[in-house]
Amino acid sequence: MPPVTSKNKLDLLSTTKAEMDIFIQSHGWKPYRAEQILRWIYQRGVTQIDHMSDLSIHDRTYLASIATINRPTITSVLQSQDGTTKFLIQLHDGATIETILIPERDRRTVCLSTQIGCSLDCKFCLTAKLGLKRNMNAGEIIGQYLSIQSYLAKTYKKPPRLTNVVMMGMGEPLANIDPVRNAIQNMIHGRCGLGLSPRRITVSTAGIPNKFYDILKLDVNLAISLNASTNEQRRALMPAANRLCSLSELLDVCRTLPLPHRRRFTFEYVLLRRVNDSPEDAVRLARSLRGIPCMVNLIPFNEIPGSSYAKPDETTVRTFQNILIQQNIDTYLRKSKGPDVLGACGQLGTNTRESSCSMPKN
Ligand code: SF4
Repeated sequence: MPPVTSKNKLDLLSTTKAEMDIFIQSHGWKPYRAEQILRWIYQRGVTQIDHMSDLSIHDRTYLASIATINRPTITSVLQSQDGTTKFLIQLHDGATIETILIPERDRRTVCLSTQIGCSLDCKFCLTAKLGLKRNMNAGEIIGQYLSIQSYLAKTYKKPPRLTNVVMMGMGEPLANIDPVRNAIQNMIHGRCGLGLSPRRITVSTAGIPNKFYDILKLDVNLAISLNASTNEQRRALMPAANRLCSLSELLDVCRTLPLPHRRRFTFEYVLLRRVNDSPEDAVRLARSLRGIPCMVNLIPFNEIPGSSYAKPDETTVRTFQNILIQQNIDTYLRKSKGPDVLGACGQLGTNTRESSCSMPKN
C-alpha cells in the first residue's frame, strides 16, 4: 500500500492506479472516480484536493479528511552557465534532496533522486558521503517532476515541456525498487498518469542484478554503471556494489537477460585520471562487452571538493573512445552538465540537509 502520512491520511501522489481502484471501492465510490482523481494530480497538477472542481464539495471535503497530496516543495534554484538547473527540494519531513534539469537541443531531461543519500559507497561520488538517510516514496520521486513542471509553468510565458526522465540523481534506484516501480507506472500511465513513453525513461544502477528484470519488465531503459575494466578496479572503486556482484558476474547476467525487442543495455563508465582511463582499460572493456547488445556512455569525472580523483585530459578521453569505436562498440561521450553548481553526475549532495525524520534505513 502507498504511504500513509503522520495524520493517517493516504498520500495520493504515492498511489498507483491499481491501489487507487481499491481505495475508491473501499469508500463506496463509483470506479471512474479513481482516474478522475489521478488526472487532477498528474495531468492538471493540482496540489490541493479542494481544487478538484468536478468532485462535489461533499466528496472533496470527505476525500481531504482521509487523503492528502504530499507534493515536494522547491526551496532553491541554482542556474549553471550551461543552462543546467539544480533544484533543492524539500520533502514533507523537512529533508532536502537535489534534482537536476538538463536542457539539450530538443530535450529537457529531469534527473530524479530516489533515495536521500545512498547506501552504496562508490569512491568517486559525493552522494556516497552522506550515507543512506532514508528511501524516498513514489510520491516524492514523481513529485520532483511535477514540482519542476509547475516551476517552469510559473517562470516562463511559453514553458518548455519536460521530455525525458533519468533516475540518476541521489541514491541507488534498485535498492528502493517498489517506490521506483510505482513512480514509473504513474509516469507512463496514458489515461491518468504523466503519459510519458517508457523509452524516454532511464533507470541507472550501480549493479543490483536480481532487480534488473523488474526494471526491464516496465519497458524502460536500464543503464548500468561499470566504471572499471577489471574486477579489482571495480572492487576498489565501487566496493559495496562489487560485494553484490563482480564486474564479470555482472556482465554474465547481462549476456543472459532477455531484453525487450530492439533494446540494448547502456553501460556508464566514469573516466578517472590514471585509474581506469588507459588504452589497456579500453581494450579490456571492449573485450568483456563482446556479445552484449549495448552502448557505452563515457563520463569524464566531474571533479568534487576534497576528492583525490581527477578528470582525464581530452586526448586520453578521445583515445579511450576511439578504441571502443574501433571494436564496434557504440560509444557516446557525455558532456559534463552543470559542474559550476555541482549538478553534474556524482556531484549531488553538497546542498542536501540531513533528514529530520526517523524512518528506518534499509
Ligand atoms: S554513484 Fe550512485 S550508487 Fe554509487 S554512491 Fe553515488 S549515488 Fe550511490
